[in-house]
This record gives sequence, structure tokens and C-alpha cells, in this order.
Amino acid sequence: MKYCAHCGSEVELRVPAGDNRPRHVCPACGSIHYQNPRMVVGTLPVWEDKVMLCRRAIEPRHGYWTLPAGFMENGESAAEGAMRETREEACARVELLAPYTMVSVPFIDQIHLLFRARLLDLDFAPGTESLEVKLFDEADIPWDELAFRSVSLTLRTFFEERRQGSFGVHHFTLPAAAG
Ligand code: ZN
Repeated sequence: MKYCAHCGSEVELRVPAGDNRPRHVCPACGSIHYQNPRMVVGTLPVWEDKVMLCRRAIEPRHGYWTLPAGFMENGESAAEGAMRETREEACARVELLAPYTMVSVPFIDQIHLLFRARLLDLDFAPGTESLEVKLFDEADIPWDELAFRSVSLTLRTFFEERRQGSFGVHHFTLPAAAG
């Protein structure tokens, strides 16, 4: 950040009184511009034995497969955001079953929260951010063409727990690494 979003003056990076880390502070109007992690919400939509994946039409990871998910908007709940992203990316309607995986991605300042969800019908189609939307059996999951580690972690956990017959709620922290 270079300029104050309130008054347009140049901001300084310094530790405000009573704080313990550097912030963008505006010397003209006194505004402190906090920057905090962003929340990515989405679903793992299931139809019978299959799960729904979307092939990305946008960067990053254009052409790779993902679960429908995206940045939460102000004014909506995590559940509303997850259903909205599922509608936008896959034109699909789901019923949320339970929060499933929370994946901290501290090196890019994000938290990904994915819900297990039941697809309500087969009336889905690629939204503007998707090239393709498809249902996959476990055996057909394109493991080498998944867009994000939070997606592969969530899918692996899901198939393993489905074999065992019960689903938990999980938190993972991704280490900074390639992929
Ligand atoms: Zn200012």
C-alpha cells in the first residue's frame, strides 16, 4: 500500500502505539490500514458416489481442476459465500451438510474453508470462471491436475473417511512449498 484510501496521502509503515507489528499508517489523517488474512469459502459437492469439480477458466492455475470456492464477500456468512461460489462457478445448487476442512495457508495470508455439500440436481454448467464442470468417481480424480493443495487434501481426506464410514472436521496448515 502506498497511498491512504481515505485521504490520498502517502502512508508510512510503522508500529502504532499499543500495537506490536508494522502497519500502514497515514500521517495526515491518522488512519491505520490493517491487512489481515482473507477467507476463501467453497464446497465439496457430492452426487451419489461422485464429487463435482470445476476446471478453472482463470488464473491462477488456469486449466486445472478445483472445488468451487472463492473469496468471501462482506455481508455474507461463510455458508452463504460457499453456496454463492458454487452457483457462480458451477451454476449448481447444493445443500450444505457440514463444515469439513479448514486449511490455513499462512504464506499467502488465506484460510480456505470447505463444506461438505449435497448436489440437489444434475442441472449444472460451467460459470464464467470455469471451462468445464464434471462429476468424478474417486478412481477418475485428476490428482495431477488439481489446482490447489487445499483441494487435494480435502479430496483425499473425504475419500479416506468415506471408506471408514464417518466424517470429521479437520484443520490443516500448509507449509510454504512448491505447488
Ligand atoms: Zn489518510
